[in-house]
This record gives sequence, C-alpha cells and structure tokens, in this order.
Amino acid sequence: MSFQNILKDLANYNTNLVAVSKTKPQSAILELYEEGQRDFGENRVQELVDKQEALPKDINWHMIGHLQSNKVKYIAPFIHLIHSVDSPKILKEINKQAAKNDRIIDCLLQFHIAEEDTKYGFDSDEALAFLKSPEFQSLQNIRVVGVMGMATFTKDENQVRNEFRSLKVIFDLLQKNCFDQVNSFKEISMGMSGDYTIAMEEGSTMVRIGSLLFGARR
Ligand SMILES: *Cc1c(COP(=O)(O)O)cnc(C)c1O
Repeated sequence: MSFQNILKDLANYNTNLVAVSKTKPQSAILELYEEGQRDFGENRVQELVDKQEALPKDINWHMIGHLQSNKVKYIAPFIHLIHSVDSPKILKEINKQAAKNDRIIDCLLQFHIAEEDTKYGFDSDEALAFLKSPEFQSLQNIRVVGVMGMATFTKDENQVRNEFRSLKVIFDLLQKNCFDQVNSFKEISMGMSGDYTIAMEEGSTMVRIGSLLFGARR
C-alpha cells in the first residue's frame, strides 16, 4: 500500500504515523521525507545516531527498540520520543542524560500485552506504583506522555483486538490515577504493518509502520 493511502486511512482516525526505517538506507528515508514525512522510528542506537547525523535536522527521531542504559547518552541530545521505556531504571538514566543536555525528553512506558513471553515491559500495577512514587516525581527532565505496546503476531484478529484494548485500559487507568492535573499524557503507540487498522479502531494515536511502507526487511 502506498504512503498516501496509509496517511488517508490514519487521518480518518486522527492517528499519526511513525515510519519505521530500521535496516533501510538513508535514500529510502529521504524519499518519504520529500513527500512530507518527518517522524521516523529506529530500534538500534548506532543506526539511529548515524542516520540522525546524515539526514535533515528537522526529522523527529523515535526510538522504538529496547534501550540499554549505557547507550542512552548517544541519543539524548536529539531524540524526539522514546517509545520503549520498560523499567524505572532506564527512565532514571534517560532523566540523567536529558539533564546533561539541558533537555526534557518525552517517553512512553512500554507494556507487555502480548501472549508471547518477552523480558521487556511494565505491568500495570508496577507502573501505577512507580508513577505515584516520590522517586518518579523527582525526575524533572523526562515527561511520560503515554504508553506503547505490541500485540501478539497472529492471524487471530480477536486476540489482537483484545490485546490493544488491554493497552487502552491501562492508558485510561494511568491517565485517571496519575496524570489528572495535566493533559500531556495522551499518546497510545500501537499498531504495525499487519495490525494497524485494528489498532486505529481501538484508539491508537500513533502507529509504527515499517514493511508496508518500505518493503519487507531481510
Ligand atoms: C520493526 C518494528 C515495527 C514495524 O514493524 P512492521 O511490521 O515492519 O511494520 C514497529 N514497532 C516495533 C517496536 C518494531 O521493532
């Protein structure tokens, strides 16, 4: 499907597009850039840094892959949004590096919603407790602006829909209990090439689409 058709689809639901350009060459990014796309997502720090250095400076770079503490410093000067915050520890490191760069870095908390076993992601009780803690309140250089999740890779649409719904439930819970004073907590990053239609229907504000835009990755 073409870039323009995907954009039309997303516009109907007020959903934004993060074009996932991991493993793709700079020329592919520039092609979409010329068509107006400014938000690009990568999952490896080194690749992200190399592309950021080489490509136009008005691109908004999104980190969507698991982030190790010792690598935060490389992206802290420029990163637009980190989708993959999966522990209090990494959030504290992001805060530290953001302070060094005199920035406030926007972050999403990643939740484990899929059936598949993965090491990464908060569960809702853990996130609730952390967001209410004095420790979290003391982090002045990060802003938690929403949640991120990945559904199980399956053809079972009901299962995918239920998993996206569970992320929306977590989002609503956190918004109500932890962010009622401000409305900066507003993003739900869910939906990829294979399931973004369902994600839009279930309230996604941001989809992360790679292969549908750039072709399959090898
Ligand atoms: C690779 C990746 C995507 C995009 O996947 P596609 O199926 O190619 O659209 C989205 N989110 C994350 C976290 C990814 O790693």
